[in-house]
Amino acid sequence: MKTAIVTGASRGIGKACAIRLAKEGYTVVVNYSRSRDEAEEALRTIKANGGDGMTYCADVTDLEQVKTMIRDVDKAYGQIDVLVNNAGMVKDEYLLMLQKSTLDKCFDLNIKGYFYCAQQAALKMFRRKSGVIINMSSVSGEIALAGQSVYSATKGAINSMTRVLAKELAVKGIRVNAVAPGFIVTEMIDALPKEKVEEYLNAIPMRRFGTAEEVAATVAMLVSDACSYMTGQIITMDGGLSL
Ligand code: NAP
Repeated sequence: MKTAIVTGASRGIGKACAIRLAKEGYTVVVNYSRSRDEAEEALRTIKANGGDGMTYCADVTDLEQVKTMIRDVDKAYGQIDVLVNNAGMVKDEYLLMLQKSTLDKCFDLNIKGYFYCAQQAALKMFRRKSGVIINMSSVSGEIALAGQSVYSATKGAINSMTRVLAKELAVKGIRVNAVAPGFIVTEMIDALPKEKVEEYLNAIPMRRFGTAEEVAATVAMLVSDACSYMTGQIITMDGGLSL
């Protein structure tokens, strides 16, 4: 049974990836940490489309919870083919007002969580010498947006991690790539002040934000055999923002 785990799949980009991968024939694990109802709703959509899977509550910043999730999924479905490391957060704060709690939370979720899941999933993929890991990065890992020093640092770290893991794991049959979206319509965007939204829209050559479904389509392409010789790449999709 082809199995994909999508972390942070109760809403936004993760939910769209889970639904898309189910359409591609994967049995999908909809991971979440707090939003049980939203995760169940995502799974209902998957099933309504003829797919299958389960929801799984695990805080990806907790290594023991990640170990248990990966072990349980492997037990339930016999293999893990795809991991989409997606659960992440953004909190804009200028350096001079930066709270230690923001720094800690962002680094724990956007970096440590990705490492915990990648390591535990790779330990299973390695046994079958096959697997794909997709890291959800951000265009902010490459470009400088005022107020995003912490977020940018975490996404820059994920880009570096992606390249190194691709090199380490290639011989084990595991591909590792990252998707770096620009502004995507999700609750993350809803939280931005109106004047920031205008400013960002004006900076995007395509003059629109992307959709979670567009990101999911790129993830589906990257995990497919169409990209079987591609590893260690950061795929930017940002309507031209970074040009
Ligand atoms: P979102 O709407 O805020 O959703 C975040 C998801 O992560 C939720 O499902 C949330 O579920 C889950 N989550 C949060 N903390 C978790 C934890 N400790 N353990 C497990 N799950 C956890 O975010 P999004 O906008 O879809 O962004 C998803 C990813 O794309 C992030 O990595 C983000 O940096 C990246 N990205 C987003 C944009 C954008 O414009 N939206 C652009 C570039 C990159 P619970 O509520 O259950 O915790």
